[in-house]
Amino acid sequence: MKQRALNQCMEISGDPYGYLKKWKQNNNKKIISCFAMNIPEEIIHAAGLLPVIAWRSNESVSIGHSRVASFNCGLTRSFIDDVLKEKLNFLDGVVINRMCLQAQGIPFILEQNTKWANIIYMSLPALYDSDCIHDFFKSELDRLIIAMEKCSGNKITTEKIINSIEIYNHNRKLLSDIYEIRRNNIGIISAREILSIVHSSMIMPKEENNKLLLEVIEELNLKVAEGNPKSGIPVVIYGSLCQTPHPELLDLIENIGMVVVDDDIFIGSRYFVNSLNVSDNPIESMANRYFSHIPPCPTKGDYKSNWSAYISDIMNKNKAKAVITLMIKYCPPHMCAYPDDQITFEKKGIPEIMLEVEHEIISLEQVRTRLQSFVEIIGGI
Ligand code: SF4
Repeated sequence: MKQRALNQCMEISGDPYGYLKKWKQNNNKKIISCFAMNIPEEIIHAAGLLPVIAWRSNESVSIGHSRVASFNCGLTRSFIDDVLKEKLNFLDGVVINRMCLQAQGIPFILEQNTKWANIIYMSLPALYDSDCIHDFFKSELDRLIIAMEKCSGNKITTEKIINSIEIYNHNRKLLSDIYEIRRNNIGIISAREILSIVHSSMIMPKEENNKLLLEVIEELNLKVAEGNPKSGIPVVIYGSLCQTPHPELLDLIENIGMVVVDDDIFIGSRYFVNSLNVSDNPIESMANRYFSHIPPCPTKGDYKSNWSAYISDIMNKNKAKAVITLMIKYCPPHMCAYPDDQITFEKKGIPEIMLEVEHEIISLEQVRTRLQSFVEIIGGI
């Protein structure tokens, strides 16, 4: 069976630079990079701009090391490396969220090394019990609205934001429909393919991506009818905050006897779970989503949520047998959250393995050996 829509997702995810440069030439619109999680993209969209989520290049970091410490995570190093190599000249600006100390340093480096007129730093607050953080969150959105109006020359009205929320919610629904098809037909689509589908949504205009996702769903339904899905021990992957895991790693997981049935990674379900309420007060809806604790996020200082319990629920929903933690090397928020999660998995008797994911070097042979032992253990459970 031909997989034309799925192939398009793979192509766009494999070469976001080429896709976006061409899109800009054809549409003559400004593109704003969102770095990385929890940026209210709908506001940028409502200004008539194209928000795209910052990605990790597939090149090793070289001159980027002159500006960013080698103990930064892959995304921060790779993004600055791409800037210095002038690969991101088609961007018109960036919106950066306070997520972690490494992200907090990015605006200063960009100010010194780009000519971008729009470098917006958002200090989205940690989740504490106080009304003042809601007010502060909303004031940050107001600041973003003013900045995006200035960048685009367009007025952002309430109606425009509501329209953008509806388009984004449709995209979230389509992505969750695709996850539901995988849940009900385990092995029908690979983890690498799912990654490219979500990644395409982060890059393309949502209006176009929505059409593409409808075609993907059609293709998947045909595949379901044909039967013959891949079999294996059902596992859930989680972690991989902000950046793409190596597709080769996902292939390895699925080529040695496991099959990924669901995930809680950013280029995955974390991006689209939890739609916004469509109401007359879209800013309030955005605040409610941000403060909802779903999905639990270690970059929000969310001391009340239990990430491992959330993962455990995903496992139960999918009848998964084990969990694979994808830990971005040098990602402090996840590194700090992980020990508690690991203890909980152990207490609950959930088999878990942690794989450290590096931007450049990943010794797949070493990982293969560890994963093979893991498969032997969970295969006997
Ligand atoms: S992956 Fe971790 S360290 Fe890197 S920007 Fe995201 S939260 Fe920060």
